[in-house]
Amino acid sequence: MDDETFRAWAHRAADWSVDYLEGVGERPVRAQVAPGEIFRQLPETPPAAGEPMERIFSDLDRVVMPGMTHWQHPRFFAYFPANASPPSLVAEFVTAALAAQCMLWQTSPAATELETRVMDWLRQMIGLPEAFSGVIQDSASGATLAALLTARERALGFTGNATGLAGGPALRVYASQQVHSSVDKAVRIAGIGDANLVRIPVTGPLHGMDPDALDAAIRADREAGRVPAAIVACLGGTGIGACDPIEAVAAVAQRHGVFLHVDAAWAGSAMICPEFRDLMRGAELADSLVFNPHKWLFTHFDCSAHFVRDPKALTDTLGLRPAYLRTLGRDGVVDYNEWSIPLGRRFRALKLWFVIRSYGVETLREMIRAHVAWARELAGIIDADPDFELTSAPVLSLFSFRYAPAGAGTGAGAGTGAGADDLDALNARLLERINDDGRTYLTQTRHEDRFVLRFQVGQTNTTRADVMTAWDAIREIAAGLRVG
Ligand code: PLP
Repeated sequence: MDDETFRAWAHRAADWSVDYLEGVGERPVRAQVAPGEIFRQLPETPPAAGEPMERIFSDLDRVVMPGMTHWQHPRFFAYFPANASPPSLVAEFVTAALAAQCMLWQTSPAATELETRVMDWLRQMIGLPEAFSGVIQDSASGATLAALLTARERALGFTGNATGLAGGPALRVYASQQVHSSVDKAVRIAGIGDANLVRIPVTGPLHGMDPDALDAAIRADREAGRVPAAIVACLGGTGIGACDPIEAVAAVAQRHGVFLHVDAAWAGSAMICPEFRDLMRGAELADSLVFNPHKWLFTHFDCSAHFVRDPKALTDTLGLRPAYLRTLGRDGVVDYNEWSIPLGRRFRALKLWFVIRSYGVETLREMIRAHVAWARELAGIIDADPDFELTSAPVLSLFSFRYAPAGAGTGAGAGTGAGADDLDALNARLLERINDDGRTYLTQTRHEDRFVLRFQVGQTNTTRADVMTAWDAIREIAAGLRVG
């Protein structure tokens, strides 16, 4: 492609992007295709000769777009958001143009030094002390894995990498049932084993782990010759936003010298608002904390902010310095590949720099505050509706609910076809209808052994009207279920 053709297509892609985002609210939120529908439209073999861009671009609209779920849709209330914003998109475009591989300081000094600076901005924004250093990881899963590998090595006196784990004592990791499955995955990959992930019971309205039970579990393990390696505390769990009492958990961690990692993947962004920071009290005592600006800080995926108290422990765990990666004559520079699982790294700091500068911290706070306010407002409306039940109160902008019309679940059925035990089935059916309808998109979880619908506000362009439109759709579809 020559430069002028490239320029024309780059403009076309920019126009396409703006048009798409302007009109995304008119599309069904979740893709409405059946499995295999997109695959069948794709040729079985690659083209031997190049095709015109015009045709490729028109296939984007014809073949690909019907199979997209629109994460930037203002009525996307499913999972957690992967929200984004125009300044972030512009930065991603520039990042793609630079196409730099930023594994070492010298492979782009600006990428490393900008990362160090914006991570320190983020540290200040969420109120972590200066003792923490930050690195941008590809995902919270990657950060949690890096943290658990560091914890493993610390618990073994940094011998695990050298000698392997075979024949060693059982290493133990403690977390509640509310943590994300990325913790389970990291426990597996770190060679710790599912059987050594100790589940601590939860108590209280925030479904946080019981620090006394944690303390007792660690003591029992020590007495049995097992090695407590790490505690993973949850700040805003995926299901219903569970929050562990981090201060009390950190006291137990310190008492026993156990590594404490805090997974704040979603809720961490809200910590830029000082009024929400009660939830993270004690995080300043942790060894490591992760949160995802790519979830709720208007920055494109992938951008996971990982803060560590002791970067040397992390680089002693993950850093390898083969001759071909040496930066000659520059000993002492930061090479962020030593802080991460992959060697290669995109220039991720640029989009964060664009976002923070373009909005400013105060506007970012206002956007998050609005999401929390609308979630609370809708939770109140649902709580007051006799046909619905609020099954977990809002934690920041996430709550759960279910449809429980009079008679359903009591055996009477009341025209719903629902007997004593099938409110779960009724709500599963409701969710399917809501997502087939396309006006909004919700997902489910199990809470207190019930099938519940999650509602989480966090999309960049969501307005209060979008939240209320989603509620209108939910009520209307639920009412249709009763007659149908
Ligand atoms: N932790 C929590 C609480 C999450 O909700 C998620 C994803 O939703 C993750 C970790 C994993 O995030 P990532 O996709 O960045 O690995």
